[in-house]
Amino acid sequence: MVNAGIFAALRDGFPADLDRIAIETADGPGAPLAYTWRDLERGTAMMANVLASLHLADGSRIAVQTDKSVEALMLYLAVQRAGYVYLPLNSAYQQHEIEYFIRDAEPAVVVCTPKNFTWISRLAFSGGTKNVFTLGDDRTGSLLERAALMSEQHAPAVKRDDDLAAILYTSGTTGRSKGAMLTHGNLVSNARVLKDYWGWQLGDVLIHALPIFHVHGLFVASHGALLNGSKMIWFSRFDPKATIERFAEATVFMGVPTLYTRLLGEAGLTPDACRHMRVFISGSAPLQVETFDAWRERTGHTIVERYGMSETVMLTSNPYREADGERRRGTVGFPLPGVGVRVRNERGEPCPAGEIGGIEVKGPNVFAGYWRMPEKTQEEFTADGWFKTGDVGLIDERGYLRIVGRSKDLVITGGYNVYPAEIEGLINEMDGVAESAVIGLPHPDFGEGVVAVVVPKPGAALDGDTIVGSLKQRIANFKVPKQVFVVDELPRNTMGKVQKNLLRQQHQGLFGG
Ligand code: AMP
Repeated sequence: MVNAGIFAALRDGFPADLDRIAIETADGPGAPLAYTWRDLERGTAMMANVLASLHLADGSRIAVQTDKSVEALMLYLAVQRAGYVYLPLNSAYQQHEIEYFIRDAEPAVVVCTPKNFTWISRLAFSGGTKNVFTLGDDRTGSLLERAALMSEQHAPAVKRDDDLAAILYTSGTTGRSKGAMLTHGNLVSNARVLKDYWGWQLGDVLIHALPIFHVHGLFVASHGALLNGSKMIWFSRFDPKATIERFAEATVFMGVPTLYTRLLGEAGLTPDACRHMRVFISGSAPLQVETFDAWRERTGHTIVERYGMSETVMLTSNPYREADGERRRGTVGFPLPGVGVRVRNERGEPCPAGEIGGIEVKGPNVFAGYWRMPEKTQEEFTADGWFKTGDVGLIDERGYLRIVGRSKDLVITGGYNVYPAEIEGLINEMDGVAESAVIGLPHPDFGEGVVAVVVPKPGAALDGDTIVGSLKQRIANFKVPKQVFVVDELPRNTMGKVQKNLLRQQHQGLFGG
């Protein structure tokens, strides 16, 4: 197939009958609203014409911080259609974060919500941005007003595989947030591989309940449905009860692990409620084996866990088809077709099956580098061109990848490596434990001391000494937490990732180190 960029690839997937429903809103102003494929075609043409009317330089960045809406998705598509670079910003970002992104990315256009216009436009104009539009989640704002005056005809820009399509800023838990530059080739190749690997088929309907400023909701979920010409049921915010009600009309659901645990909290989650569903997919953070098992028990479905990141889109997935193997709990499956995954130790030697090391990847999905950070980019690639993911894991004897944590979360105590995932797994299996996070804190004798932060199940009383006592019988002493904190909840970001940096900050001086 000739590649002409991500918009052209997605547009090819639209069904022949453009009057069919492409997206139906499940919540938000005016819901339910139905958008046809023709609406997407026209809406993106008109918005692309707004951008074209600005005569922007090639490669201009369009930075967008809005609430989730169908029009916001259309804006993303319009940026691709017009051939510019899309820069989504987490809707939770505040002033000093937005200021950093505007200074770093120097966008030609900024789109924000009407309520944030005053302060964002001030930052944008003082940073050199010439155009600021607003877009509300109720179809208000200057972007749509301008688009309404535009032609419904627009010839999509033709893009090459190595042209830049988007910049995704990493969550930046340490140091400066880095802009991962993704090309059209990255996005198109990954969308096509996933369409095949997850068996997207005629009649599929996706429940879209994820934010669209992140790789998961923006690329994996939206691209999947658009490329397959599949209808989406569109939630602007996650609502477990309402989601379960819509399973009867849908076939595909994608979520981060927290969405699955919240769905499990609903009495309405039954095999009958899920009988129309074809596949449930999880990613962005580790899925606890307990959640995996509970889901199978409660719904009769086995979750497909996959692994990816902003810099690489999707890398591995548990098999969808039985012929490709079982879906193995606690693993993220096999490398996707065309993706290379290897695990190497600190000396750069390949790790044999079962041995833990750094995960490195290669393939048409791997990004073009960090925006305006050539040295950082060089540091993160090996001499033979593999990207160092920063994740630590192993490939088991059957070829499944298992992630044990981020390399920066590795705890080194008295010279011994402790992989938090191992200890967390043991703690999570204990009676009354909902979840846990294991971190390392500065320690005067050991360099770092192991500490566990544990959340009890509702109504359960937990005692740190009992947890420590039980671990002592099962693992080497150096791995046993020196202190256990029992808390109501773990700090998480919007993608459900536990923010260990915040836990480390909070308990920093514990050992006086
Ligand atoms: P982001 O760039 O925000 O998508 O974050 C990517 C990181 O999320 C990866 O480098 C992993 O550390 C983590 N991640 C994504 N999917 C999984 C998964 N299925 N299991 C464990 N960690 C995951």
